[in-house]
Amino acid sequence: VIELDKVHLTLGSGASRVHILKGVDLAIRDGQSVGIVGPSGSGKSTLLMAMAGLERADSGRIVVAGADLTKLDESALARFRGRNIGIVFQSFHLIPTMTALENVAVPLELQGAPDAFERARAELESVGLGPRVSHYPAELSGGEQQRVAIARALAPMPAIVIADEPTGNLDEATGREIASLMFSAAEARNTTLVLVSHDPELAERCDRVVEMHSGTVVTRDAAEAAQ
Ligand code: ATP
Ligand code: MG
Repeated sequence: VIELDKVHLTLGSGASRVHILKGVDLAIRDGQSVGIVGPSGSGKSTLLMAMAGLERADSGRIVVAGADLTKLDESALARFRGRNIGIVFQSFHLIPTMTALENVAVPLELQGAPDAFERARAELESVGLGPRVSHYPAELSGGEQQRVAIARALAPMPAIVIADEPTGNLDEATGREIASLMFSAAEARNTTLVLVSHDPELAERCDRVVEMHSGTVVTRDAAEAAQ
């Protein structure tokens, strides 16, 4: 469902121009969960952004859910994201002026779902937030905010969920609980999950772990290379 071929990507301009992805090759099968680990600055977040079509590659091929992202213009990329990708960030990124329910309903409304609010409510119930649907993000704990973000990412039934350090701002116990929730929700829907985490235990819970090193993907062992 995701295929990257010799992907190079640079960001910034002038003196701050950085060659970040240096020939990334990676293939991820439908329904697989993949943990991405590696040192800070190795390009993990940039790789996720490239998969989501939020950063453009300079060269190489990125095919996600049948679409060659390198060939889409900005509006086609936005439609592609709306249809195929759910994103969970470390810092939750909820809309502060909207309640939990509204935050989850927004992407459903954008999809044109007639029952956006009912579905949003059901999603929030499934992450244990039934009693908190009318709360604003500032009225929720970090763990609760991340549950809302997970509900929002999963509600439109995307083929792929991308999570960048989803437990990075949570204490260990809450982080593991939130991670379990995300894994089981993704598994139940056969969603492909690409997770970046500094917590090795979290990454190991994925079907497969890949390591990044200064802009390239280093596969851990031959068995994984054969997948
Ligand atoms: P961490 O584990 O700390 O989150 P990471 O592996 O996610 O690190 P990236 O955020 O992908 O790393 O960044 C890779 C490199 O690209 C870093 O050295 C960073 O300084 C550089 N970089 C990121 N964004 C830009 C930008 N907009 N312009 C220039 N350089 C950038
Ligand atoms: Mg990062």
